[in-house]
Amino acid sequence: MADYQLFIGGELRDAASGETFTTTNPGTGQAIAEVAKAGKEDAIAAIEAARTAFDEGPWPRLSGKERAEALRKIAQLIADNAGELAEIEAKDSGGTIRKATFADIPGAQGAFEWFARCAEEEPDRVDLEGSPFPMSSNYVRYEPHGVCTGIIPWNFPFIMASWKIAPALAAGNTSVLKPASFTSLSALRLASLIAEADILPPGVLNVLAGPGGTVGEELAANPMVDKTAFTGSTEVGRRIMQLASGTVKPVTLELGGKSANIVLDDADLDVAAAAVLWGTFFHNGQVCESGTRALVDRKIYDEFLSLLVDRAGKIAIGDQLDFETDLGPLVHRSQVETVERYVALGREEVGEPVCGGAGPEGLPEGLDAAAFYTPTIFAGVSNSAKIAQEEIFGPVLCVIPFDSDDEAIAIANDSIYGLGGGVQSSNLERAEAVAARMRTGTVWINDYHLIDPKRPFGGYKQSGLGRELGTQGYDVYRQVKHVHVNPSTSGRDNHIHFTALSANI
Ligand code: NDP
Repeated sequence: MADYQLFIGGELRDAASGETFTTTNPGTGQAIAEVAKAGKEDAIAAIEAARTAFDEGPWPRLSGKERAEALRKIAQLIADNAGELAEIEAKDSGGTIRKATFADIPGAQGAFEWFARCAEEEPDRVDLEGSPFPMSSNYVRYEPHGVCTGIIPWNFPFIMASWKIAPALAAGNTSVLKPASFTSLSALRLASLIAEADILPPGVLNVLAGPGGTVGEELAANPMVDKTAFTGSTEVGRRIMQLASGTVKPVTLELGGKSANIVLDDADLDVAAAAVLWGTFFHNGQVCESGTRALVDRKIYDEFLSLLVDRAGKIAIGDQLDFETDLGPLVHRSQVETVERYVALGREEVGEPVCGGAGPEGLPEGLDAAAFYTPTIFAGVSNSAKIAQEEIFGPVLCVIPFDSDDEAIAIANDSIYGLGGGVQSSNLERAEAVAARMRTGTVWINDYHLIDPKRPFGGYKQSGLGRELGTQGYDVYRQVKHVHVNPSTSGRDNHIHFTALSANI
């Protein structure tokens, strides 16, 4: 039996093939668990279980209040098991225990609580006033889509699981979730906690770990699936759209980014340096909305750059399970190799980085140095450089000078992406004017990265499609049905533009 099993149709089980894969702590390279490895057969079984639960089970027919009660029980389960879940998350993903304890676990709990509130408070019927047709009345019903699948990445596994499961279930859908193969443990543990607590009818939630190329593709393409949501690379996002197009499924996509953090000449440099460093290096830059392009007014450029370099050198790198650590390992050695390739490219395009550009020295014994990388800053970067255009997903910052607010906005918008962004300024009116002209889904003024389940999150351009969170992120899980009611059931006038069926003819 695998240490972590699939959750299908209300049962914890091994893969149909009996196969497992080993998952490791990237910080040490040590194995931490054997995980059941789902294949296509398991994916289809999970989709069928979700289909049956939707078509025949009680879940979509419960009231919003009843569904909210179940979601709140899941939120409480997360709170009750927060310590265990945080440790699993940190060990499996390389993210720090501080991030897991203060962001990931409460963030996921908050998402379940928020969508419980949506289920309870967002009306599922809205009357429409002013019909042009005599006597008729009209209303809109909001209904679940049916079976919703979610495919999630490795950078925030637990939060991403909650962002896919909670709104889908809140709106009355059933759900099948596939976590990333690098980081499947926390979603599978949540599934087993839900199973033990017997919170959901069988098949309402299904979770299975397995390769994107087989399990993920099935979840996007299968005709029994009504909607799919994906977070990950833009490249796979395009593939998800293609697969979903076979049955014209609605898709929600949250993809890559290369966000600009604009530092205006009137910014408080201390506040701005903190926003740029946290905006880039938090979780080693493995964050889709990271502000990996710092656009800095030339008037303050030199002073600001030396502040950045000085502070970047003070970031504590080490064991992710130590509460003192700011940055642990990246998710996997292979992600470090990607970073190394981009840093080599940066050396060709721009020259030597002003800090970083190598693995850290002096790590505590027992850690795998090949999984770590130091915060790296390239200065004087042209926005056309590949390192300024492509998503690196590692601790690499490009600093780009500008001479006017107009130029900063033009540089910020010169990207295929549009997910996040920042404006650092002591003049809020000026900062908001700049924010209004940035073509991106979220802008933080004098801050960065703060995400709340009540506020919508998503991207412009190739950063995605649709929104997660907020009431917007609830509505994408609901179909809209217009109902027209003509109360006259007999002897009424026929339609002026189509008289052939009139009883008088
Ligand atoms: P992917 O986009 O490949 O993976 C994200 C999820 O999609 C995983 O669950 C993966 O499964 C699954 N998947 C992979 N291929 C398919 C497919 N053909 N059909 C359906 N599902 C699929 O990200 P990577 O892990 O490969 O990371 C590559 C790059 O993507 C990173 O360097 C970064 O630039 C970007 N990225 C962006 C993220 C974001 O939040 N915007 C998050 C993660 C990565 P499996 O794990 O089994 O491969």
